[in-house]
Amino acid sequence: MINCQSCELKTVEIIESCDNENYPYRVCIECHQRLIDRALRPLEYFNLSVKHGKTYLLHDDFYDENGKACQPDSEVIDETSHNFPNFDSIKNNLEELIDYSIVIWWVTTPLIQEFQKFNKSQILSSFQSRMIENRFLDGRIYELTAKILGHFAADWIRSEWKIRDNNKLLDYSECLANCLPVDEGFYYYTEELERIDSPSLLSENLTGLIHFKSKLSLDWIENNIKRVINISNSWGYLAVASGFDWDRAKKWINSGRPLSLISLDTLVNCSVTNETQNSTLWLKENPQRLLNPDTIDNMNFVLLNYLSKDNVARVRNNINYITQNWDKILKTK
Ligand SMILES: [Zn+2]
Repeated sequence: MINCQSCELKTVEIIESCDNENYPYRVCIECHQRLIDRALRPLEYFNLSVKHGKTYLLHDDFYDENGKACQPDSEVIDETSHNFPNFDSIKNNLEELIDYSIVIWWVTTPLIQEFQKFNKSQILSSFQSRMIENRFLDGRIYELTAKILGHFAADWIRSEWKIRDNNKLLDYSECLANCLPVDEGFYYYTEELERIDSPSLLSENLTGLIHFKSKLSLDWIENNIKRVINISNSWGYLAVASGFDWDRAKKWINSGRPLSLISLDTLVNCSVTNETQNSTLWLKENPQRLLNPDTIDNMNFVLLNYLSKDNVARVRNNINYITQNWDKILKTK
């Protein structure tokens, strides 16, 4: 007898492949109806999400962070006797902690720290067997591998990279950066970026280089910026995460467009703190500053000299902001 993946009590009666034909839901009749109605109880949502990840029917439009149905088509019955697991009650059991880490929306530092008390071989082995069962879990499992196992998982990540899905390139970036030597991971990732023709796809995927936190990315920007016409925000977000210093900022400003525009965006990004609105989550959680600055007078001179040659709204607004916010850009207070 195989138990329903949702209630884990009744026998499987329905195999539902609407979300993933390679790994269908195996559920009892009652849970199947609740799944289709998006009216699962929190514990059932949890049990299914552990095995299936964020599929359409388990999407966060339909359930909140604690598995409470947000827009059910039928009444959610007996909700309080099927609660979402409590973190303190699962954190000392490795498999339950991994279950929890797969389901929750955001992987936090305190959650990662809980893994330190467990054996890395056992963690890796559990990740591998979960991926063998359902490869759809890859994004979250790779994220956990990067954050928990680092170089311990190098060989596994090399073998996963060999069978990669190039439509999910971003999912691999943190692992390549954290689990492999920097030069090796950077080479693999940029080799794939070089194959991308579409400017919007390139812009989306280049943000994966943020995880390397390496000046190699600044050199990569210099060599690849000619591939795009419109400069999206992604380039300035990548530069600020990659050890951006005043020498580089000045070099890019003095070289003119397009690098001058990225340099100004990057200087603005240096001012982001964890309280800034309208920035990326990564940057708010990892605020950066301009490295190796010159005196403010000298830096202002370079900026105002550039403004006299390229006085358009984008440049003017950025330079006004930068010259008035050196304290935030240099993080002097
Ligand atoms: Zn069931």
